[in-house]
Amino acid sequence: MSRFRKVQMTQTQDDDKNRIDCETRLGLVLKNAKLGFWDFGRESTVLNWSGRAKEFFGLTPETVITYDLFMRGVHPDDRERTHRAIQRTFETDQRTYDIEFRTIGINDGVERIVCASGTVVTDEADRPLRLIGVSTDVTEERRHQHELRLAKNNAELASVAKSQFLANMSHEIRTPLGAILGYAELAINNHTTEEERYRFLTSIQRNGELLHKLIDQILDLSKVEANKVDLENVKFSLPRALDEVVSALRIKAAEKSLQLLLRSEGKVPELVETDPLRFKQILMNIIGNAVKFTSKGSVTVTVRLAEAPVPGERLTIVISVCDTGIEISQEKRRHIFERFSQADNSITRKYGGTGLGLALSKELALALGGDLILKETSPRAGSTFEFFFPDSVYDESLRLIHLGENAGADADRRTQVATARLDGLRVLAVDDSEDNQFILLSKLQSAGAQVETAQDGQEAVQKALKDEFDLVLMDIQMPVLDGVSAMRKLREAGFRKPIIALSAHAMKKDKKKSLEQGFDDHLSKPIQLRDLVREVAHHSGLESRTQH
Ligand code: ADP
Repeated sequence: MSRFRKVQMTQTQDDDKNRIDCETRLGLVLKNAKLGFWDFGRESTVLNWSGRAKEFFGLTPETVITYDLFMRGVHPDDRERTHRAIQRTFETDQRTYDIEFRTIGINDGVERIVCASGTVVTDEADRPLRLIGVSTDVTEERRHQHELRLAKNNAELASVAKSQFLANMSHEIRTPLGAILGYAELAINNHTTEEERYRFLTSIQRNGELLHKLIDQILDLSKVEANKVDLENVKFSLPRALDEVVSALRIKAAEKSLQLLLRSEGKVPELVETDPLRFKQILMNIIGNAVKFTSKGSVTVTVRLAEAPVPGERLTIVISVCDTGIEISQEKRRHIFERFSQADNSITRKYGGTGLGLALSKELALALGGDLILKETSPRAGSTFEFFFPDSVYDESLRLIHLGENAGADADRRTQVATARLDGLRVLAVDDSEDNQFILLSKLQSAGAQVETAQDGQEAVQKALKDEFDLVLMDIQMPVLDGVSAMRKLREAGFRKPIIALSAHAMKKDKKKSLEQGFDDHLSKPIQLRDLVREVAHHSGLESRTQH
């Protein structure tokens, strides 16, 4: 008997121990699953809530919870739905409860998203007694899901935009290419008169230049998009850079009898600090557009400081380009900075252009920390674009000047440089493409140079070491011996004259690479006659190049 009792006692102790273990285990499960436990009675009573369940309502674990307090913590927009869901489990056969609602922390005001599930406990007669369940905070999870959805949508939109961009690009490239091939075919025709042939060749040239510009802009845009624009931050002369852009457009303006004016409103710094190349590219585009879309009147470029200079504060330079040309329609204004945004094909036919310039210029202006905006446009007054960018921090040693009187002063000097002659200069032009050889030969000969050609690096090395050349133009990618190896061989053999790399790779990093490899310069193909002559003249010491 006593033995039996002892066994019974042990059994009871084990049961208790097991029960404690069960509760502990349940507690641990709830804790680790970050679940709150709750228990509602009939008639909207609240029987038991765990501390964590209260946390989801911004309440401390000690708070005595009531149904009203619970409802107060539920987001007003979700209250009715939550209340009805609970009532339904007591009043209908639906004995489970699964819901997600927002809460607004009663003490902390924090908005959370809570997911709750519960089951009804019934009495012997299957009448609902209590609704017991767990809840969890799913705010982070939902936020991640929302972000993922957004990212997916954005990726889909970007993919559509890319396809659209490719389709546009293909169309834009085919248009000038079609014209080039078409006019070339006509020019070859035996029955073509000299006059017609001249016209066809002019069209080929115009379309070729357009294609060239388009490809440069597409490359630039892809760099901007991939965040790979190499931006320099150097000090350069503001009046000279402006003058360079304005001078380059003077001939076009003069052809249309347009006045092209450059002036400053108040004083502006003589030296500014940003990327000079991008600065000129943006201005070339907007001033170029102003000249292009104006048939009568003037284009005025005005530089000013956004605010009066304060020592220790950064200056902002504003350049506005105001024309008296056509108005940009209301509809057009919204899309003007989008890619391929010409109003319709008639714009291209009438004025030429790629529809990429403004999109690219805006991206570049943003990359410089500034912006490019369409300030105003009207039928009578034409359009005004404004480009602004942050300059260096102002200190009183910075020279401020008035601009205007000297605009265009550099133009003559540059024209001289551009029309420099290469008389008597001996040039070796190396390129594996016969067409390119011929083009280089003809262009350099037309400027007075004596030109010899070679079709690969090996032939170039032989010729350069045999004859006396003043300069070598060297293609990079060639069969037998590539341009870099040929340049190295020549240097090893003691050839000291300038060797300039010629390449279809037009990125800034390509130029940097060529210079690092030991070339004296890097010119990207296709190269225009005046640029080619200017660079060759510069490197052979015939002319000094204008560089800002
Ligand atoms: P495009 O190479 O065609 O000039 P842009 O991106 O530079 O390409 O310009 C897009 C379009 O914006 C132009 O085709 C033209 O319709 C309009 N536009 C730009 N600048 C001007 C301006 N100064 N006056 C009138 N229209 C302009």
